Amino acid sequence: MYDVVIIGSGPAGLSAAIYAKRAGLNLLVLEKNPMSGGQVLNTYEVDNYLGMPGMDGFDMGIKFREHADRLGVEFKVASVLSVENQGERKLICTKEETLETRAIILATGAVHAKLGVDGEEKFIGKGVSYCATCDGAFYQGKRVAVVGGGDVALEDAAYLARTCEKVYLIHRRDELRGAFVLQQALAALPNVEILYNHVVEEIEGQDSVESLRVLNLKDNKKDSLSVSGLFVAVGILPETELVRALVNCDEGGYVLAGEDCATNVPGLFAAGDVRKKPLRQIVTAVADGANAAVAAGNYCGGIKEK
Ligand code: NDP
Repeated sequence: MYDVVIIGSGPAGLSAAIYAKRAGLNLLVLEKNPMSGGQVLNTYEVDNYLGMPGMDGFDMGIKFREHADRLGVEFKVASVLSVENQGERKLICTKEETLETRAIILATGAVHAKLGVDGEEKFIGKGVSYCATCDGAFYQGKRVAVVGGGDVALEDAAYLARTCEKVYLIHRRDELRGAFVLQQALAALPNVEILYNHVVEEIEGQDSVESLRVLNLKDNKKDSLSVSGLFVAVGILPETELVRALVNCDEGGYVLAGEDCATNVPGLFAAGDVRKKPLRQIVTAVADGANAAVAAGNYCGGIKEK
């Protein structure tokens, strides 16, 4: 039986892994893909992690994983099908096996939210993308749009502006949500045009995206934007389906857990983007991982001493 099984290998999961390993816990990290790092891998540049200004997101993900490897953390690639709480013993079922553990740290992160407009599903991979750093290269010299007003949308727009002829940033309000420093960076780019108070109503084209039907929410005027690509950056959805029947979550599906990442189920911890909290950043995910590992260690110590 493991002391702790960490589900997920993004910054929260990897941080939990190094803290748990250094604390002498018997642990396993389960990851869905063979590539650790989570969303960081798709981030062009991370400029707000202390001591690593201008860090390439992919390189950062690799470094995080290397740190865990150096300590000898055990990893396994597996999709978790279910989690069962039997008190001081918890079961994790994957397709191949059932694992037993005292504690679980859920660090499954989040997935991209969809826009939910006509044409979105049809054109995924044919002009509709959720990752500018993954797909931006296909749009060199072309006109594209980014929808959203958060950090990711602003970063994506700035990234695409380096190689695209023109980038429209379409935001539903008259104020951007993303960091001020990113807003300033965008304002300095001549080929970026911000369409405030606009929403995308439909994505149009024959075999791939050719235009967007947009609506100006201020004057109700409709317009057509000629673009070859639409990058959707309208937020994230927590990957918490595995535990929703077990632990308390908010209406958005985020797990309710305190600073120590402990949920209402003893021995089940939630770290990173899955946890309800005011700031979702790499640094807060890493902090969650550390807190969760220490709390899981204390929990396991309590069991062992009985
Ligand atoms: P956010 O939730 O911050 O922003 C989502 C944006 O999409 C908002 O501007 C929102 O509008 C808009 N939006 C939501 N739904 C719709 C819709 N249906 N139609 C149109 N627009 C919509 O998500 P992000 O993906 O930008 O960021 C996720 C988290 O990751 C954030 O906490 C962010 O701070 C963090 N992050 C951290 C980074 C780092 O640590 N370096 C880098 C990038 C992101 P409105 O503003 O009106 O709500």
